Amino acid sequence: MTKIFIDPGHGGSDPGAVANGLKEKDLVLTISRHMRDMLLDEYQDVQVQMSRDSDIYLSLSERAQMANSWGADYFVSVHINAGGGTGFETFIHDSRSPKSVAYQNVVHPEILDKMDVRDRGKKAANFAVLRLTNMPAILTENLFIDNGNDAKLLKDPVFLQQIARGHVEGIAKAFGLKRKSGAASRPTASKPSKQTPPSRTVSGDLVVRAIQEFINTYGFNIAVDGIAGPQTLRALIKVLQTELNKQFGRGLVIDGIFGPRTRAALANLWAGTRGNLTRVLQALLYIRGFNPGPFDGVFGDMTTGAVKKFQAAYSLNVDGIVGPQTWGALLG
Ligand SMILES: [Zn+2]
Repeated sequence: MTKIFIDPGHGGSDPGAVANGLKEKDLVLTISRHMRDMLLDEYQDVQVQMSRDSDIYLSLSERAQMANSWGADYFVSVHINAGGGTGFETFIHDSRSPKSVAYQNVVHPEILDKMDVRDRGKKAANFAVLRLTNMPAILTENLFIDNGNDAKLLKDPVFLQQIARGHVEGIAKAFGLKRKSGAASRPTASKPSKQTPPSRTVSGDLVVRAIQEFINTYGFNIAVDGIAGPQTLRALIKVLQTELNKQFGRGLVIDGIFGPRTRAALANLWAGTRGNLTRVLQALLYIRGFNPGPFDGVFGDMTTGAVKKFQAAYSLNVDGIVGPQTWGALLG
């Protein structure tokens, strides 16, 4: 049995950092609750205790004492940064115990991978909770509450889940936790096949062909005919569902149907985001007749322009952010 102690920083009369309408104490509690739920729902032989599960004040030594007396195997303190800067960093105590170093080396990159923000590095400091705990410990600083761009991410509930997901995957990897057999499956995209293209006759729309080839890297094997029909749209929704499961642990059935569960599982996208969800967005825009620029998975100026034109055409709020309404109009 692995005992993970999660410490949402601050609380009660101590709000932590406050800016942009956000309070650190609230954000870290949300992230920590997601972490607890994911660990308990999805992994075997793990126990979780939290220093607080409500908005109460606890001293730093109380937090450490709780973990010490419980006999935790790992202490994870979750914080949001402030003071001018951007990105993600982690701290261990500056005594650098070998286990703390080893776990930081595993956990830090897993969180970073889910956030896709600036890496400020793996650091060490003489923080009280790190000093007073007698098990391996880490303190994570997840973006800057007083940075406009970071705050925008922190306002997205899906992004907070993503931060939690990174912590959980890091902890699971560091401690070799096994997933429960019934837990939500996390399919991964199959590698693009190295086979030669089946046909040399170029037909249909070249961008649609590129979209279809992209879809087939997920193993769906649809016709690459350059014609964006119902089969292509359905397969594109399967790619969307696969990515939502992979990136956010949504546990969706990959059925190619845009129903209420998929709708509820959507992730917001905006300028600067990149990756295969952005590719799905670009594919949908293109198929709907709004040119998003290169089909490259980068949400740049041209994609933003296409999103705004699409939003205007569908009488949506023209903000260039792809939230539930815009996704709904693209997929509906
Ligand atoms: Zn803090």
